[in-house]
Amino acid sequence: MPAIEPFDWDEVFRRLRAHLAGVPKAAMFELRDRGHAALFEQLAAALISTRTRDETTIPVSLRLFAAARTPEAMAALDEPTLARLLHGATFPEPKARDLLAIARAIHDEHGGAVPDTMEGLMAFRGIGPKIAALALGVALGRPLIAVDIHVHRVTNRWGILAAPTPGKTLAALERILPERYRVEINERLVPFGKVTCTGPRPRCPACPLLRMCAQVGVATPAP
Ligand code: SF4
Repeated sequence: MPAIEPFDWDEVFRRLRAHLAGVPKAAMFELRDRGHAALFEQLAAALISTRTRDETTIPVSLRLFAAARTPEAMAALDEPTLARLLHGATFPEPKARDLLAIARAIHDEHGGAVPDTMEGLMAFRGIGPKIAALALGVALGRPLIAVDIHVHRVTNRWGILAAPTPGKTLAALERILPERYRVEINERLVPFGKVTCTGPRPRCPACPLLRMCAQVGVATPAP
């Protein structure tokens, strides 16, 4: 259905911030706010978060960082130890293998400095564009958009773009989203997609964006 108010990015983010006060943050942002904002930590946590719920990613990442939070410290661990530290996350053994390879490559081939480009990060096994963008965005403030399933679903419902895949949503957002919101869109829409604009039955009557939203594809909002 057509929106009643014009879509305005500043107003959208202002309302989202207020609406989400008190709602648990997305894992990378929670870890950043707990002092784990280094690029290596964000990269490791983003890798751990793949197919793992935030409620698990946060404690598993904190347990890992208590043992090793730098490439040098992690490179000194063995793979079984690392896999034990990742217990609870999905696929702990493959993630331990990838994390150890990344830590050792950074230590041995990059002089201990984490590559700070999309290409540099994506050269590591296990690191795709969403993880690389999230890590660079959260750790270094680079204006990169990380499109996960929540960002993809919500922005399509707003009616500001019509994209069949997250990759096409990313391309559309790169054209229309102001730089100042490129990191924050993931920070806001992950919890928003969990508590309000949920997958099957979004809570439109309680949504602060209702008057700006075209509700594309929403057949049965929750009462
Ligand atoms: S909850 Fe409903 S009104 Fe709010 S953004 Fe989602 S589809 Fe739009």
